Amino acid sequence: MRSGVASSGIAGQSGAMSSGAPNVSVVIPVHDEVESLPDLLEAIASTFKTNQLNYEIICVDDGSTDGSAEFLKEEAQKRSDLKAVILRRNYGQTAAMAAGFNCALGDAIVTLDADLQNDPQDIPMLLAKLEEGYDLVSGWRQNRQDGAVKRLLPSRIANWLIRRTTGVHIHDYGCSLKAYRAEVVADMNLYGELHRFIPALAYIEGARITEVPVRHHARRFGRSKYGLWRTFRVLMDLLTILFMKRFLTRPMHVFGLLGLVSMVSGTLIGIYLTWVKLGLGRDIGNRPLLILAVLLLLTGVQLFCFGLLAELLMRTYHESQGRPIYRVREIVTNSAK
Ligand code: UDP
Ligand code: MG
Repeated sequence: MRSGVASSGIAGQSGAMSSGAPNVSVVIPVHDEVESLPDLLEAIASTFKTNQLNYEIICVDDGSTDGSAEFLKEEAQKRSDLKAVILRRNYGQTAAMAAGFNCALGDAIVTLDADLQNDPQDIPMLLAKLEEGYDLVSGWRQNRQDGAVKRLLPSRIANWLIRRTTGVHIHDYGCSLKAYRAEVVADMNLYGELHRFIPALAYIEGARITEVPVRHHARRFGRSKYGLWRTFRVLMDLLTILFMKRFLTRPMHVFGLLGLVSMVSGTLIGIYLTWVKLGLGRDIGNRPLLILAVLLLLTGVQLFCFGLLAELLMRTYHESQGRPIYRVREIVTNSAK
């Protein structure tokens, strides 16, 4: 188990990877950003040097075709503070970040974009917040330099929805500049495009979360890898997260309830129709209500069985990975006992 940031302290050791393991790992997903990389690496190095922090930079090349990978490989051989992780193809920003997390050795992990839109000078501010005892600090781009219709509006709506539904009250989920305690990301499984939901996932696992305003610059080189289509995907991911937050350990409470409601309604309609047929002696063969009753009964049984299967799957999910259904923050005992 890695030592916590608060107990070991992030600050205090100087030099890039000069004395053992780094305290801070900076994880950067890179996809076709070769023009930005030299300035980016320089800006990060100078920030950490002025703040005397022991750090490592992990650049994950996510299937670039513009020479970013070659540049990173060359730089990583020249300098001691850079690790280049080259993925075999383009997997997407979330996967690139997960690859970076897996290689990170620091007690604190900072993520940022490779396109110079985030400002590395903000990193010490985020780390200071971690030292205050938070597990996750998110950047908040107050002066966001992106297009209004294509980016800002969808992002506002998405942020509002995510805030309302997950209960994690930060303003800017989409900001890549974030700092985490290593434990927070260590046991987080990221799929799809869930990186923007890391705060929500961390919150499900009991993390203490805060945000700080950060700078944001317009893109100088290259172009954004995303368009409007992303909004739809974010909404779908939101549904997944919502389900996980509410019902991951008790799927039967959703499916079982729905199934039961459906079965009971179907049965009631069935009883009514039986009474019409047997009691009143009328023909029910041509009544749409009959179809509804059969449909409700069948759907109910299906939902019920689905719930039971989901319960089995959930148990397999937790037990196969040795994932407890809870997270302990700390255990305090009197060692003399
Ligand atoms: N990125 C990546 N893989 C992808 C798409 C993007 O690693 O498939 C990286 C990209 O190089 C950048 C970050 O993710 O460092 C954010 O991408 P972008 O700047 O295009 O997003 P925006 O800032 O427009 O939301
Ligand atoms: Mg960007």
